[in-house]
Amino acid sequence: MIVKEIKTDTVYELSPHNHAYINPYIGCSMGCPFCYWLKQEDWEGKIKVKTNLEELLENKLKDWPKDEFLYLGSVCDPFNELEEKYHLSEKCLKVIAKYDIPVLITTSAATDVVLEYSDLLKSIKKLIVVIELSRIPFVECLNQGGIHRGIQCANILQERGIKVWTTLAPVLPGITDLDQILKLLQEEITVYIDKLDCNTEDILGKRTLKWIYEEYPEFSDEYDKIIKEHDFSYFSEIEKKYAENKRVKKFPFQLTD
Ligand code: SF4
Repeated sequence: MIVKEIKTDTVYELSPHNHAYINPYIGCSMGCPFCYWLKQEDWEGKIKVKTNLEELLENKLKDWPKDEFLYLGSVCDPFNELEEKYHLSEKCLKVIAKYDIPVLITTSAATDVVLEYSDLLKSIKKLIVVIELSRIPFVECLNQGGIHRGIQCANILQERGIKVWTTLAPVLPGITDLDQILKLLQEEITVYIDKLDCNTEDILGKRTLKWIYEEYPEFSDEYDKIIKEHDFSYFSEIEKKYAENKRVKKFPFQLTD
């Protein structure tokens, strides 16, 4: 993984839903074959570090509407392995805390940094930490009978009084077991689910199929159906099964909960 320090003039990007996303870093080392950001040019294989972001954020947040959520993380994990060196997310969160801005943080919990920042997180007036659970090392750990860092971090943060949600995006049929995940997570923790949405024309579809053929050949037919034929009946079954379960939700995030 190549690390590159950069100066940015952009404090945040807007999502299609007009949500403002702050990314102290660009890039991720987790290597998920279904990662949406693989479509973005110049994204894979390097992490860019926005060394001047805190300074820009300070100016921008002075007049930020007090009840409008900011999002931290999307094209990066804000608590990645570089955070231990640069502390960029920590600096941004301190500015956010100072101006009482509500924030939703998305993390893969790749390191223990999120736990080390518990006191800072608790100082933010309105905060939700969203932990992504569909990551290859996590998936493999659960399938080998272990409990991975994502579930552990979610439960510890919740016990420390921090509001936690999780995502299982995508749900991987035959591979991820939502019942097991719900059982391992504290009862207050919501799981947002999404289907595996890619096709043979895009890099996500190609990588995911390659991964399935090599690691889970027994599910090749099922994934061929999803990725080549866009047959999402597996997800409709899951939606039906959990329709009455208040802990299982679909995107977009419901910030008023
Ligand atoms: S952890 Fe998230 S951002 Fe990183 S590769 Fe996986 S899906 Fe992409």
